[in-house]
Amino acid sequence: MDEIEIPSLDATRFDSILETDQAEEFATRLRAASSQLDGHTYWHINSTAAGGGVAEMLQSVLSYLRGGGINARWAVIEGDEEFFVVTKRIHNFLHGSKGDGGSLGEAERAAYELALGHQFKDLEALVQPGDVVVLHDPQTLGMAPHLRELGASVIWSCHVGTDEPNEFAHSAWEFLAPYARLAQRVVFSRRSYAWDLLDPTLVEVIAPCIDAFSPKNQRLTADVVAAVLDQSGVVPSGSSGPASFHRQNGDEAVVKARAVMLEEEPVPAGAKLVTQISRWDPLKDHLGVMVGFCEYVPESIDAHVVLVGPSPESVTDDPEGGDTLDELRKAWSQLPDASRERVHIACLPMDDLAENAAIVNALQRRSDVIIQKSLAEGFGLTVAEAMWKETPTVASAVGGIQEQIEDGVNGLLVDPHDLEQFGRAVSGLLEDPDRARELGRRAHISVRDHYLAPHYLARFLELAMSVS
Ligand code: UDP
Repeated sequence: MDEIEIPSLDATRFDSILETDQAEEFATRLRAASSQLDGHTYWHINSTAAGGGVAEMLQSVLSYLRGGGINARWAVIEGDEEFFVVTKRIHNFLHGSKGDGGSLGEAERAAYELALGHQFKDLEALVQPGDVVVLHDPQTLGMAPHLRELGASVIWSCHVGTDEPNEFAHSAWEFLAPYARLAQRVVFSRRSYAWDLLDPTLVEVIAPCIDAFSPKNQRLTADVVAAVLDQSGVVPSGSSGPASFHRQNGDEAVVKARAVMLEEEPVPAGAKLVTQISRWDPLKDHLGVMVGFCEYVPESIDAHVVLVGPSPESVTDDPEGGDTLDELRKAWSQLPDASRERVHIACLPMDDLAENAAIVNALQRRSDVIIQKSLAEGFGLTVAEAMWKETPTVASAVGGIQEQIEDGVNGLLVDPHDLEQFGRAVSGLLEDPDRARELGRRAHISVRDHYLAPHYLARFLELAMSVS
């Protein structure tokens, strides 16, 4: 178990971008929660400090709770390979996917409970009766019985699900239900993800959020964008500007890290850019992006696609990452020459998460289109991130992406299995910058109204108060 340090940030910085009533509502909720939780800790526990949407959110949003006087703390569990094979299987099953083809039986339950029992030993010394603990995702849920016994209040937040539960989803639900029933509230990121095995009065729906001021989303000028992408080696341009950004605590920093690129030649500085940013997970369908782009985005458009993900060894809770990247590299090497020249694979360094975030930020701003062609998606923070930056999106009509994108209004939705439709949607936006700009403008407004940190935190504070 690792504890991650959380800086303290003043949430009034959101006053400049929220509507007045939105800002006031959040300030009131923060004050009330701070007074009610006085003397207690508001824990958030997940399974990785880096990589993936949950880590991304916790890194930034918990700071605003501390800034508001709440003793928020973040702990990350550890586990052995066997544990993460089981939890990745649960994750895939919850998405309705068969994953590695294994099952969830007594042996898997024993491995799951054993690993979480060890993790709880570390936590036991830290959590006090009366504390409120939010357990994120299936990886941590098995600690609910121990925490309840200790006298803590428990909320389980499940960020994954499927709109059409199949036998795999049901099998994961059966596996998890004994623990989930011990939580006082279960939060799903989308209404249709709620299981019918659970008491509906305990179920809440809260969409994830982004932090407009984090290194991932803060404003960057065009010069800085060019400099960050040049310095990181993703889009060399010979830029001489400063590759500077602000860390979460406000300190100025400079991107020094370099990405590992797989490419024939670097992306030409002036080329149109289409980008997908994801963990190396088969459900993100990198292969589909590559093939759809090569076959259906004509060479005459002069566009390049960059598939971006973390350096694979850095994401500790995802055992499939390395294999998925290897397969992609192999498929890339077998592309016809003319196609291969237009496809770039970027592994971003994760040693300094803020630098990694600044590179992602610059890519999302530099790109003409951001893609999220997932086969399944809990929410898809990458979509909200691009939308906030007014970059037009083409994304699959799956899971939480459908909450965010209204097709043809603030982005484009495509059938994840129709590569031609996908390619045409991307080409259409590249060839019609006015339409692309209008979609981006509307996208920004919808993120401001629904998916910024204060919206998310206000709901979670309300829950913490209701169970404490
Ligand atoms: N991400 C990142 N660096 C990478 C790849 C992904 O910072 O190299 C971030 C991405 O910007 C987003 C998160 O990881 O904030 C992915 O969240 P999402 O909800 O899109 O997918 P998940 O990984 O949770 O399935």
